[in-house]
Amino acid sequence: MELSHRATILAMSNVIAQPINLYDLSRPRLGQLLAAWGHSDYHAGLVWSGLYRDLAVDPESIASLRPDLQGRLATSTLITNLAMRSVIDSADGHTRKFLLELADGQAIETVLMYFRGRATACISTQVGCAMGCIFCATGQMGFRRHLTAGEIVAQVVHVARELRRSGQSLRNIVLMGMGEPLHNYEATMAALETVMDQRGLAIAPRFITLSTVGVVPGIRRLTQERRPMRLAVSLHGATNEERSRLVPPASRWPLEQLIAACRDYTETLGRRIFFEWALIDGSNDGPEQAHALGRLLHGLDAHVNLIPLNPTTGFDGRPAEPPAAKAFQAILAGYGLPSTVRQRRGIDVAAGCGQLATLQP
Ligand code: SAH
Ligand code: SF4
Repeated sequence: MELSHRATILAMSNVIAQPINLYDLSRPRLGQLLAAWGHSDYHAGLVWSGLYRDLAVDPESIASLRPDLQGRLATSTLITNLAMRSVIDSADGHTRKFLLELADGQAIETVLMYFRGRATACISTQVGCAMGCIFCATGQMGFRRHLTAGEIVAQVVHVARELRRSGQSLRNIVLMGMGEPLHNYEATMAALETVMDQRGLAIAPRFITLSTVGVVPGIRRLTQERRPMRLAVSLHGATNEERSRLVPPASRWPLEQLIAACRDYTETLGRRIFFEWALIDGSNDGPEQAHALGRLLHGLDAHVNLIPLNPTTGFDGRPAEPPAAKAFQAILAGYGLPSTVRQRRGIDVAAGCGQLATLQP
């Protein structure tokens, strides 16, 4: 056994230490922990399937384990318990928003959406966000902290439990909740590996979309590591000047660098990228911006998602009018760029894109 590996297991199995959060562990790490306690990988498999197939509410309630293992789990482990502070349904019945409390009293929002009859979970990766996009409620609240892998996994389990109560299952995940997933790279990837694991939640990578504001080193790393999920990049402006007015990180990672990283991603992985564009009336919804976007993405395997701006308290822009959105799409089509105007969902309960925020506890 490697030294660092052995040190990790010793740390993991130290009974005086804090209880181990099982949601933080990958399947191989869980196997190592149980091996250190003298149990075979078969037992690790039982625990894993208890956590992610049966959606056990605590480690000791996992069925059919040996009593000594059950006892050890009870004394040395826990799973993230996200207390539900509130739940609110949109009037159209398509969106349900959960306000979930973390162990330190901070809170996050997680959204369950039904789209063409399929359940999608919109998951948060941070409490607040450091990127400061001016039209986004999460950006307006500032950065509080990163979520741990376990806290990201716990949101997915929460939604899966909720669906199971009505005999449904979770198929899609979008990392479009609070925060910038590529600013919290390690925890986000660890969580995604857990939710994709075939022996557990088994969410297929093609049904997972990670949305980023355009953190170039993160996109390069996704490419290098050949991460299998889908990628969405939030643009909102097709020139550096326009874009940095709305999205402050645009000055750190200018469009030349961002589009080069995107080109590399599509070519290396043979995968399309989705570009998101919040359409703001009189700001970035005109023909000039549409042409600039068409030129910028020319030749790239891309699809553009246009999102009429959702209201937030800190920004007084208005959504583009439907004819402007149509005209914008027609110009993009002239450059061979497919696009969709995203249906507005959950606006009445502030669960739409960019509307998630939590008050200071
Ligand atoms: N931080 C990531 C993911 C979370 S935001 C990102 O920025 O991509 C999810 C999506 O909502 C992004 O495309 C974001 O630009 C968009 N968005 C933010 N505020 C919005 C608003 N007020 N109206 C419409 N879309 C918004
Ligand atoms: Fe952060 Fe995304 Fe909101 Fe920008 S749009 S502030 S990156 S959550």
